[in-house]
Amino acid sequence: MAASDLINLSGLIDDAKCFALVRQHRWPEGARCPVCGSGAVIRDGHDDTQPYRQRYRCKACAGRFDDLTGTVLAGHHQPLRAWVLCLYFMGLNLSNRQIALELGLDGSDVQTMTEQLRRGLVAKAPEVELTGEVEIDEVYVVAGHKGQPAAVAKRGGSDAVASWQARRDAARWRRTSHPSSA
Ligand SMILES: [Zn+2]
Repeated sequence: MAASDLINLSGLIDDAKCFALVRQHRWPEGARCPVCGSGAVIRDGHDDTQPYRQRYRCKACAGRFDDLTGTVLAGHHQPLRAWVLCLYFMGLNLSNRQIALELGLDGSDVQTMTEQLRRGLVAKAPEVELTGEVEIDEVYVVAGHKGQPAAVAKRGGSDAVASWQARRDAARWRRTSHPSSA
């Protein structure tokens, strides 16, 4: 019988203390508005589904936020206790796979969590998803430099504004039709 069958660690974790930990870590001198930075904030009830997640209202800019707003801990389907335990296991040098087993989570979910936690428990969530730009970059390399650099250099201006979708399709065609030409 595995240890995780004997003890459900997640069930022993106190949600109230997890949120207190985040507040202490994020705002050691009291909550501040993540929008305008003002310390003139008042408590404004709790989250509808997470009773220990404190909500706030900023008296300076009238913005509303809560304990997790603007952090990597917000907007995820994992409860805060899973993040805190994940951080604890990272401190014990457990692998992503071991953490996933202990928490009963998917390995790729845990990988995402540990990558984000390495930047800090309450590090700001990235504002831009990079997937689209990564693909454009790849197209530029494949269609331009690796393919026919002379033709690309000659075309220059007008084709540079052609839709990236067309260039992506061209790159795909080149990759699948002429794998040995690169
Ligand atoms: Zn504010």
